[in-house]
Amino acid sequence: MKGLPHAMVTGLMLFGVATVLAAQDGRSAGAGTNPLTAPWSGPYGGIPPWDQVKPEHFPGAFEAAIAEQQSEIAALVANTSAPTFDNTIVAWERSGRMRDRVERLFAVARENVSTPQIQALEREWLPKLAAASDAVFMDARLFQRVEAVYRSLATSSLAADQKRLTTLLYDVFLRRGARLGAPEKERLAAINREMASRFSEFRQKVLADENTWTVLDAEADLAGLPPSLVDAAKAAAAERKLPPGKWVIVNTRSSVDPFLTFSSRRDLRERVWTKFKRRGDNGDGNDTKATIARMVQLRAERAALLGFRSHAEWRMADTMAREPKAAQALMMRVWPAAVARVKEEVVDMQAVAVKEGGPRTIEPWDYLYYAEKVRKARYDLDQGELKPYFELNNMVSAALWSAERRYGITFTEITGKVSVFHSDVRVWEVTDGEGGAHRALFYMDNFARPGKRSGAWAFGYRPQHAFDGPITPIGSNNNNFVKGAPGEATLISLDDAETLFHEFGHALHGQLSNVRYPGLATTPRDFVEFPSQVNENWVLTREVLDRFARHYQTGQPMPAALVEKVERSRRFNQGYATVEYLAAAILDMELHTRPDGRFDPVTFERDELARIGMPREIALRHRLPHFDHLFGSDSYSAGYYSYIWSEVMAADAWQAFVEAPGGPWDEAVAQRFRSFILAEGNSTDRAEAYRRFRGRDPEVRALFRDRGFPVD
Ligand SMILES: [Zn+2]
Repeated sequence: MKGLPHAMVTGLMLFGVATVLAAQDGRSAGAGTNPLTAPWSGPYGGIPPWDQVKPEHFPGAFEAAIAEQQSEIAALVANTSAPTFDNTIVAWERSGRMRDRVERLFAVARENVSTPQIQALEREWLPKLAAASDAVFMDARLFQRVEAVYRSLATSSLAADQKRLTTLLYDVFLRRGARLGAPEKERLAAINREMASRFSEFRQKVLADENTWTVLDAEADLAGLPPSLVDAAKAAAAERKLPPGKWVIVNTRSSVDPFLTFSSRRDLRERVWTKFKRRGDNGDGNDTKATIARMVQLRAERAALLGFRSHAEWRMADTMAREPKAAQALMMRVWPAAVARVKEEVVDMQAVAVKEGGPRTIEPWDYLYYAEKVRKARYDLDQGELKPYFELNNMVSAALWSAERRYGITFTEITGKVSVFHSDVRVWEVTDGEGGAHRALFYMDNFARPGKRSGAWAFGYRPQHAFDGPITPIGSNNNNFVKGAPGEATLISLDDAETLFHEFGHALHGQLSNVRYPGLATTPRDFVEFPSQVNENWVLTREVLDRFARHYQTGQPMPAALVEKVERSRRFNQGYATVEYLAAAILDMELHTRPDGRFDPVTFERDELARIGMPREIALRHRLPHFDHLFGSDSYSAGYYSYIWSEVMAADAWQAFVEAPGGPWDEAVAQRFRSFILAEGNSTDRAEAYRRFRGRDPEVRALFRDRGFPVD
């Protein structure tokens, strides 16, 4: 795959930095002055009050938000008129606004700038918030009203989006236990409270293990590393107050993968790789195995309570795939081709290794290193040669420009004019053309730092809707690029640039949203990666490369010969990328289709990988003890397959651009993509929207071709 999986966080997910949210010893925040409870004020229909929020504001805000939601629901069910769309569904859409605001800002604190204080709040409040949600979804009088509106749909004259909203909401109530008897409701609520605690426990343990590092203390330990990596390792050591003459490889993907790609010290590669793959699995206080075993069991029990055969069936009820077997069928169609390609890749690497007097057997910590050598031998291309052309700020400009050109929108940077949760964050206003109507705000937090979770994700601070007057969207991108040394440019890899474009694709999806109701703003989990994956393709278009992939020192564009080498090597190492991802997705589905939810975290991975014929040279992209998609929340559980599901559409949709007269910049295709795929949110069936865009269902062949696998 072009880009590797990055999460789109649409669930509710903030800051730990001293500048904002610093503890104020002993001074508690007065209720009347809590900036979290008031509707956002300021320009653009209100903006997040980062400059005023302190951790101690959260408890009071959570209490006030839960109370407000309760009184809104109480008023809704006390209505003596017969249930109607307006007095029930619209009233529902209007409820819980304060909660939504407070929880979203708390999520940013938790994900981007976590501190021990935020972590303690998380442990205390997430179970309480889960309980408050359950009280709402299990309110029998509320469900009766929703059901009555739902039953009347066949004969009603409501608009299509109103009918769809009602149906989707009714289904959510069913999946959240609205029909259960009292003892079952009580048990379900207990499970959900415990799950909320376990999610925090899991995330905090993994974050602790990622905030560790390997110290390199001799020049010889730096063998093979390009200067930019040495500088980053030196900066990381200084940040951790190590004495001069030491370098640090932080235990996160953004530090580990480049080290594994370039370090010629096999012993250190093994050490760094092993430490990374054992996050959450060290038998110490941060070991997550018991936590995840408990979660899988609770999920199975919950699914059974709700009348589903497994957690996967429960979780997938609102997706495009609908059921596990559809996802499994796609995964198993791609798997053999990917494994076959890995065998070819390994043969190529062994040849290079033997020629260099290296190992005869490729171990998992050798893969990226020798793959890089093969890339160099075959395409005369090394990543180091590319990096000077991918300067971070240029690539940010490239992402914005490519969207402006396709969609006629304009990004104007307003950094410094609105408050942010960390000084690294940049902000743009999005308008319809230059000087046009205000459309959205876009925040970007690009750098890795202690207290920020690893990976890359997009997050909405305020979703768009229009039923009560226009509410414009505010959203963010969050990356973990390693900052250049002070005063130096930040150079990123081509993979990083594709990640940046991927997350920006999620942001565009939010910015171009044009839905009436907030309940229709979020698309199914296995659709949501489609717009982001398509967006990766614009990185390697000639127009973007010519304008933005310029040498950070000389300003010269990439030489044509280098561009050609990049293009010729695009399908390189796709066996590796596909297998490490797909194996993790297959295990996710296997784990969550077990009706009893019983599994042994020690033997499960080993046995399942043997069963599917995992090549011994590759490890899971995410081992279960740190698989945040599965155990950081429910959202991507039985949902890691979503990336490949979405990619079938993404590869096929990109073909529509490629085949159009205007290529990637074709106005008619961009217009259809915007209207049908991006703007509608979940207001219409997503498979049907795809057919309107493409004139047919997506064909899986484009994905095979993109990865260079034989098309059957
Ligand atoms: Zn994504």
